Amino acid sequence: MSDAPWDRFGATREQWCDWGWQMRQRIRSAEELAKIIPPSEDEAAAIAALGDRFRFVITPYYASLMDRNDSDCPVRRQVVPRLAELDDPVGLADPLDEVAHSPVKNLVRVYPDRVAFCVNNECALYCRYCLRKRMVGDEDWTMKRRELTAAIDWIRRTPEIRDVLLTGGDPLVFADDRLEWLLRELRAIPHVEIIRLGTRLPVTLPFRITDDLVRMLERYHPIWLNTHFNHPRELTPEAAEACDRLTRAGIPVGNQSVLLAGINDDIATMKALCEGLVRLRVRPYYCYQAQLLEGTAHFRVPIERGLDLFEALRGRTSGYAIPLYVLDTPHGKVPLQRSAIRRRDGDYVEVEAWNGGVWRELNPT
Ligand SMILES: *Cc1c(COP(=O)(O)O)cnc(C)c1O
Ligand code: SF4
Repeated sequence: MSDAPWDRFGATREQWCDWGWQMRQRIRSAEELAKIIPPSEDEAAAIAALGDRFRFVITPYYASLMDRNDSDCPVRRQVVPRLAELDDPVGLADPLDEVAHSPVKNLVRVYPDRVAFCVNNECALYCRYCLRKRMVGDEDWTMKRRELTAAIDWIRRTPEIRDVLLTGGDPLVFADDRLEWLLRELRAIPHVEIIRLGTRLPVTLPFRITDDLVRMLERYHPIWLNTHFNHPRELTPEAAEACDRLTRAGIPVGNQSVLLAGINDDIATMKALCEGLVRLRVRPYYCYQAQLLEGTAHFRVPIERGLDLFEALRGRTSGYAIPLYVLDTPHGKVPLQRSAIRRRDGDYVEVEAWNGGVWRELNPT
């Protein structure tokens, strides 16, 4: 028997490489998962207990990267529920207070000159530590064209906005024509200088990066794109090809990872991830401190551990391979360095944002 991944899913190679097929064949239940990987007792119980609270969905491609014999596999832990999600007494639904920073539904503004525009609520799969858990995968959030138009109108009326970050959910889950409609509307606004895409699809569904897509994107330059690799195991030939298509279309590709306990919070793994990204011409941009988000205590890493890790990389690899370690706060992102910590108060650390705003973060133990 061949061990090609499409054989395990009873598909042809052609189907496997078709992003529509991948979207339709996504794994959504313990039974479907069991056909590929026997869930551990903990995973099976967690899928049953958490299914309604935060959707469990995995693309066949991403599932094919999971280690079937190890439930601590760093790919598996990102997407398969665990009972530990039920054990987080301090996590919050909206730790960045994004709802309060929303001038109009779907837009989040914490900086004068740029906005995050949540254009949809769907992703190819759902990451268990997702910051937008409160809305992604939730059908009540489905965005109507009228709501997108209202957000575009707000951007049109707000001349300070020079940088629009399309996020979600994942904007590349849209069909090309819908995405093109959005880009065309935004490009028609003279003060919008750059458009950025925040997408995990090069990692979770690399076949989405088709020639047609990049040819369309090229018409709306300057377009920048940030993707979200967390572990070197995700740097597959398929992902490399997706990044190559994007960069050849003149789109600078960056990476935003999240520091996740037991997944990438050790020097060797982070170094391998960042050096692997640079080999793909993807620039590690930010590595986020995991937020105080509901159901994610088992992913959070003490800030000191993050500081030690990024200090250890300095001088030991290319500067290009070292992302900025940041804490996102309701005032914006704060680069984490030892000197950024102004004060400690019990388990809290106090940092100051670019605008002088002070933020106290509970430091994970
Ligand atoms: C991260 C973020 C941005 C972009 O920040 P950069 O530091 O420019 O990458 C813009 N708006 C919001 C709400 C953000 O969270
Ligand atoms: S791809 Fe991004 S937005 Fe979607 S579930 Fe994962 S972290 Fe959340």
